[in-house]
Amino acid sequence: MTTLSELTTLQVGGPAVEAVTATTRDELVAAVAEVWNRGEDPFILGGGSNVLVADEGYDGTLIRVATRGIDVLSSENGRVIVRVQAGESWDDLVAVAVERGLAGIEALSGIPGSCGASPIQNIGAYGQELSASLVAVELLDREHGDLVRVPAAELGLGYRTSVLKRHGGQAAERDGVVVSIDLELTDDAGLSAPIAYGQLASALGVDLGTRLPIADVRRTVLELRRSKGMVLDAADPDTSSAGSFFTNPIVSESFARSLPADAPRWPMEEDHEDAVVIPLGQWTGDVPRPSFEHGAQVKLSAAWLIERSGISRGFRLPGSRAGISTKHTLALTNTGGSTADEIASLARYVQMRVAAEFGVVLQPEPVYVNLEF
Ligand SMILES: Cc1cc2nc3c(=O)[nH]c(=O)nc-3n(C[C@H](O)[C@H](O)[C@H](O)COP(=O)(O)OP(=O)(O)OC[C@H]3O[C@@H](n4cnc5c(N)ncnc54)[C@H](O)[C@@H]3O)c2cc1C
Repeated sequence: MTTLSELTTLQVGGPAVEAVTATTRDELVAAVAEVWNRGEDPFILGGGSNVLVADEGYDGTLIRVATRGIDVLSSENGRVIVRVQAGESWDDLVAVAVERGLAGIEALSGIPGSCGASPIQNIGAYGQELSASLVAVELLDREHGDLVRVPAAELGLGYRTSVLKRHGGQAAERDGVVVSIDLELTDDAGLSAPIAYGQLASALGVDLGTRLPIADVRRTVLELRRSKGMVLDAADPDTSSAGSFFTNPIVSESFARSLPADAPRWPMEEDHEDAVVIPLGQWTGDVPRPSFEHGAQVKLSAAWLIERSGISRGFRLPGSRAGISTKHTLALTNTGGSTADEIASLARYVQMRVAAEFGVVLQPEPVYVNLEF
């Protein structure tokens, strides 16, 4: 029997009734179609690095995506289009791109998981997001049951979101399985994309906007990530996590102004889904769906909000084996033998503390499978 705790980076989750590993594109398409034809939903698993699976496991078929292949489709005027099969490791792809001197995804070095999952929440880090290089995905579409090419512009890619993501385990806006992704990378004498993140620029000793040899950028990103427990490492217990557990809330400018002066805040350029803000004292404990309010928006630091709510690194609830990472307040970790319930309880506690202190309800970033939040 396949147990999800062995396949997820949080190392929690019970058994799946049935499990299939698809190693070729045809196997993947056939396995998914068979489950759909039975009127059921498969649980598609890549690297298991962004899921919180219930202790009861998954009452259905688990399909593990293990397809491989990186092909250059075209290369013209310094623009290289690459097609990558869903089961390829994301970080292996970045390593190959860097080795070949192709820029555009080097700041996304060290993010665990598969290429097929990369568009699901539009992975991002250190000033880069997948959306900047994603051209299209090949999607096995649930509605029509066939393979379609979906341009990136139709995927609703935003800050840790897309139409394909099951936020908090709810149904995705568009149901389907990513079979491959097409990326456009830049070939410009081995130079990176302009550095777009202050902390990365400082670590590299350059100004924002500077372009550097790609390999230097990858090395520095990996060093920064390791110092925060954000590169999977069996020897580092802080990496038994799903990375950042909460997204940075996006609130109206007027609400952001009501926070203490030292609260980090970053103006947003586009309209984004606002965080739910509830007047202090009125929260019942339910987590409502995010509302949409357009206007000037500001991104807050979830880590700052958590710390200022009195939760520090290494925090654990009494008797619980789930803890806040000792390196980074945003990561929830399995300190050894934790259950999914313990992780979910800690997440809820963090949400309650932040809501009680600031009136902001943090949204979990991982997909909850068979669990309420
Ligand atoms: C230490 C650590 C650091 C991290 N750092 C970052 C970071 O810096 N930035 C960031 O954005 N994320 C980060 N993450 C989160 C995670 O690595 C990414 O979200 C990654 O893209 C998940 O890939 P996966 O293959 O592991 O997905 P999984 O966990 O296997 O799946 C996640 C979701 O995607 C669905 N899915 C998976 N594959 C497919 C497919 N082919 N088609 C359709 N649906 C699919 C699953 O059903 C599930 O709903 C981090 C996680 C960890 C553990």
